[in-house]
Amino acid sequence: MKLASEILKDHNLRVTSVREEVLKMIQSSDKALSSNDLEMQFDHVDRITLYRTLKTFETKGIIHKAVDGTNVQKYAMCVEGCSEASHQHQHAHFHCDSCNSTFCIDDIQIPAFPKQSSFQVKTIEMIVKGTCVECR
Ligand SMILES: [Zn+2]
Ligand SMILES: [Zn+2]
Ligand SMILES: [Zn+2]
Repeated sequence: MKLASEILKDHNLRVTSVREEVLKMIQSSDKALSSNDLEMQFDHVDRITLYRTLKTFETKGIIHKAVDGTNVQKYAMCVEGCSEASHQHQHAHFHCDSCNSTFCIDDIQIPAFPKQSSFQVKTIEMIVKGTCVECR
């Protein structure tokens, strides 16, 4: 696993203790984390700083929104190669209906949208619902 400080430097971000701590936490979690999850861990950091940190990470291509069909915004690590210019997330997200956890499922590729379509696609989200390993 790449060091959090290295990832920050790779994306031209100054390394601050908050950025490093938040990134480490997202990195070490196998689930996508909500800002609530993070707030609980970082009660010494004010909310605005935390939100701003997440927003910066998202813009820079370090983390992405793990869309799971609920109203809760969750974040997970990006794959290597994501940048400010392009986020490539051709994977599905799994939502466990029992524990509400959300996981990135990299093995499932999202089907391509027909090229000849007149719709202009911004994102395609694929959500799989069910029961996770811990709840089965
Ligand atoms: Zn990304
Ligand atoms: Zn579960
Ligand atoms: Zn994901």
